[in-house]
Amino acid sequence: MSDASQKEKLRQHFARRVTTQARVVLDTWQKINSNSGSFPALREELLGASEKLVRYAQRFEMADHAEAGNKILTAVNNWSADAAPNDATELQLQDAIDALARSTQRRTDQSDTETPHQFRRTPVYIALTNSEMANRLIRQLEFFGFRAAAFDSAQELSEACALHKPETILMDVNFGGGPNTGIATIERLQERHDTPVPIIFMSDEDGTIETRLRASRCGGEEFFYPAVDPGQLIEKIETYTHGNTVEPYRVLVLDDSRAQAKFMETVLKKAGMTAHIITDPMEIIHALDTFSPEIIILDMYMPGCTGMEIARVIRQQDRFHSVPIIYLSGEEDVTKQLHAMSLGGDDFLTKPVDPKHLIATLHNRGRRARSLLALMIRDSLTGLYNHTHTLYLLDQEIVRARQKNQPLCFAMIDIDYFKKVNDTYGHPIGDRVIRSLSMFLKQRLRKTDHIGRFGGEEFAIILPNTRPSDARNVLNEIRERFGELQQPAGDREFNVTFSCGVASWDNEPSHTLCERADRALYASKDHGRNCVTLADS
Ligand code: GH3
Ligand code: MG
Ligand code: MG
Repeated sequence: MSDASQKEKLRQHFARRVTTQARVVLDTWQKINSNSGSFPALREELLGASEKLVRYAQRFEMADHAEAGNKILTAVNNWSADAAPNDATELQLQDAIDALARSTQRRTDQSDTETPHQFRRTPVYIALTNSEMANRLIRQLEFFGFRAAAFDSAQELSEACALHKPETILMDVNFGGGPNTGIATIERLQERHDTPVPIIFMSDEDGTIETRLRASRCGGEEFFYPAVDPGQLIEKIETYTHGNTVEPYRVLVLDDSRAQAKFMETVLKKAGMTAHIITDPMEIIHALDTFSPEIIILDMYMPGCTGMEIARVIRQQDRFHSVPIIYLSGEEDVTKQLHAMSLGGDDFLTKPVDPKHLIATLHNRGRRARSLLALMIRDSLTGLYNHTHTLYLLDQEIVRARQKNQPLCFAMIDIDYFKKVNDTYGHPIGDRVIRSLSMFLKQRLRKTDHIGRFGGEEFAIILPNTRPSDARNVLNEIRERFGELQQPAGDREFNVTFSCGVASWDNEPSHTLCERADRALYASKDHGRNCVTLADS
């Protein structure tokens, strides 16, 4: 790669970083508009996201974005924290957001392939001796919305890493020509970072324990020997780039003392968690519904009722049956603490609580709650929502659509001639196709869309606040791009298509909506497959 093209690549990379952050701001604004969350939390989120945007835009000299970001910051400052923005502030915010949307749109227009729903990540660097393989991987990665760059020499790789720390590096053990020269390059690169870059090593020639150990010691998370299948590599790359998208824990705090509640809020936010604070126990049901906490902290003694009573009410709702509840109180009597725990609590912290202790407890509880929840609601092959949970989400979105008087679409997808894929290439390759479609959908749909695996090779997608024609266009775009994706199978490659049915919610119960989408899907199959059909209302 020449110096100039390298520079241009990096410039584009930084520009994307700014536009990605701009999208985060725009997404937050959407959330505010759709009232999804508490206003103090949303205001905080918008503030944080806009500050970051201004920082990036200034650093990478994108004046329009910086100016739009500053306008948003000014407007946010006029917004008092505990209510919806007043009319004047809302107008001011809307103006600033429009300006940002315009700047972002212009950028998007320039970059050829980007679809509005596409989600960009930090780069993946590829250092392979086989440049044909490297190029093939880049093309594949781009299909999944990753940004990848390949390098011809250790020098170029090292310069790129100095400018921007990659999310992961795919490294040939012998990159650079000699035995283990690739590992040596990584050893030098890692010295610059406090936290090592996860490395995926591969080698055609050397799978000895000595080499594997040396690779592992300098951040090698994976070691592929002998040669690998690009499909496998892409799945690994997706694993190591996932850290990016981990959501902060949502913690609900109920404490009648405003001072104590504020203190908790500060501690939680500092630890990167999303906090929602209430001081009136009677607000608990509303807070559960709107904030959907993953962890709940309850004060033991409040006027009107006790934390234990509140815990029982929370536990009476199926959805919050396994949400961790942590009591916080000045109560030091161990018998009383144990009694409180027997009534649906998971932990007991004594005031004054040490922030470090609190955060550690929350992390432990939150991690376990998430993995338990994942077992209950996610499909193990793809990580998408399972059938039951997808239907639950659909019911929820129907309620929301009715309340807000917004459109809602539901789509069903079924892979075409999938039996033939299994028969020709084997079941494991079939599984990989299912995972690749799942990754593809995750990359290309909005964060607010819900994606489920309905069974076998069938998927369901819930698109809130989406008109039928928009849903059809988005799905058609995804269908076309997915059909272009080369599915690797050893030395061979093949293409897979899917058929899709979309139904727009028509004030009906969820099962009717599903049936209509299903019928539209079968109409697509009837029309020769590889198409999207919109159900009649
Ligand atoms: P059509 O275009 O009509 O949808 O044809 P098709 O072959 O895709 O549909 P059919 O329903 O006849 O076959 C689906 C196949 O999918 C049958 C089943 O063995 C396979 N299948 C279901 N679940 C999985 C899975 O988790 N992994 C793999 N590899 N195959 C699966
Ligand atoms: Mg099927
Ligand atoms: Mg099928």
